[in-house]
Order: sequence, then C-alpha cells, then structure tokens
Amino acid sequence: MRIWLDGALRNAEDARVSVFDHGLTVGDGVFETVKADHGRAFALTRHLERLATSARGLGLPEPDLDEVRRGCEAVLDANPMPLGRLRITYTGGESPLGSDRGDAGPTLVVALSATTRRPDTTAAVTVPWTRNERGALAGLKTTSYGENVVALARAHEQGATEALFANTVGALCEGTGSNVFVVLDGELHTPPLSSGCLAGITRALTVAWAGAKETDLPLDVLERAEEIFLTSTLRDVQAVTRVDGRQLADGPGPVTAEAMRIFDEQSAADLDPR
Ligand code: PLP
Repeated sequence: MRIWLDGALRNAEDARVSVFDHGLTVGDGVFETVKADHGRAFALTRHLERLATSARGLGLPEPDLDEVRRGCEAVLDANPMPLGRLRITYTGGESPLGSDRGDAGPTLVVALSATTRRPDTTAAVTVPWTRNERGALAGLKTTSYGENVVALARAHEQGATEALFANTVGALCEGTGSNVFVVLDGELHTPPLSSGCLAGITRALTVAWAGAKETDLPLDVLERAEEIFLTSTLRDVQAVTRVDGRQLADGPGPVTAEAMRIFDEQSAADLDPR
C-alpha cells in the first residue's frame, strides 16, 4: 500500500509519524473519509472544503488543499481497487509532551483501504449520551472521536451498526458516523445543523436531491416515524429497519427507496457534485 505523507508518496510500512504528534497525544487533528469508485473520488471538492472548515475551527494552520488533492489522486493512482475509502488526516504535528501545539508544522496523511458496498438495510440504537450542540467541536470532523467509538461499541453489542445521539436539549442529532432522516406523514425530515450534527455531505446532497426539510425533532420521533434512514459517505442512503426494540419493516419503505434511487442515479452522474 502506497500512502501520502507530508508531500510524497511512500510505502505505508516505511512511513513514520512522530510518537509526539499532537494528533496522537491529544486528538488535535481533523479528518475526512472519501469514497472512491474505481479510482475516482466522490464529492472530493466538498470534502476538501470541509477539511479546511474543521481545521479552521480547531485553529490548525490552513491546509494546502492543492496538496491534499494531489495526495488523494496519487494514492488512488498507486493503489487501484474497485471501491475504496480514502482517509485524509491532518494534525497539529510534532509537539513536546504537555505543551501546546508545536511549531514543527502540521502532519498530512492520505491513506486508502478497500471497502464493499453497504447492505441496503441496517439496525440502529439510541444511546444515553448527548452531543453538545454548543461545544467547541460541534459540527467539526476532528480526530477526537472517542465518544463515537464508545457509542458504536454499544450499538454492536446490540446487533446494530449505528448509535444515534440526542443533543443536550433532547433533540434528535446524528449517528456516530452518519446523519439521520425520518419520514413523518409521508414527508422527509432531517435535524438542522443547529442540532449539533456534522454537515454531512451525503446529508446535503440528499436534502437537495430528495427534497427533505430541516426540522427540530425530539429523540422519541424514532418511536413513531414511518421510515428512518441514515446517510454517510460509506453508507450512501441506508434504510433503518430496526431501531432499539422497534421493527419498522423488512426493507426500505417507499420514501427511503426513492431517496436511495435518486442518490445512486445522481451520484453516478456527478462525481464531484457542488
Ligand atoms: N456525522 C458524523 C459524526 C460523521 O462522522 C459522518 C461521517 O463522515 C457523518 C455524519 C456523515 O457525513 P458524510 O455524509 O459527509 O460522510
């Protein structure tokens, strides 16, 4: 596997990042996951823009997006595969233990791993922990993902693949790595960004392409929604057929099936949608 590290392609086994990297020691980093179909990255421009937004939110130096794009293209060219997951990681760089971020400059890594198309349906659970919609990291895609790791483990214990959070005022927010949509009286809704959710790229495209409304929703909407689905880079649009103890259906409902169809069609036609 060839990866990109700080300006050059390298063998993954030879690439070295300092054990004092601030991303490793205190989670001072941001990241993106980008889907690549036969070497072609989907919505790369949007991902690069979000990387820069997250970096700004964390006070990291402005990433050189031309270099990040070059790194992604070089890694994709060097490692051909049908369906890949590009991972861009950008951290505060090497820094003495116990000190603020050092001045050695940021670390940029672009890596790739093979993946497969997700199943059309899945199960989700709710978790008792909350997203802080007023926190310093709200809406940023940082490498401080410990809370998501814990919540996802809770989902796996219950035979589900995603855990859903409410925010501090009890409103439905998002999953550990996905946004959530519900159908109420035949209409499609998703929580607004003010709920504290990440500005998901699949979410934004689904809002635009399938015409969802952004609505404040209580967490218990999951007990009565006619349909529920998740969106993310690797899930695309994925139906939730069981949430906690509630079985909704055996397969995607009509609104979900239509959102899946539109997403597949539009994303195949436009690899870098604005
Ligand atoms: N919410 C969180 C916390 C995420 O980590 C992700 C995954 O990137 C998403 C939502 C979905 O965003 P996207 O559609 O851009 O992958």
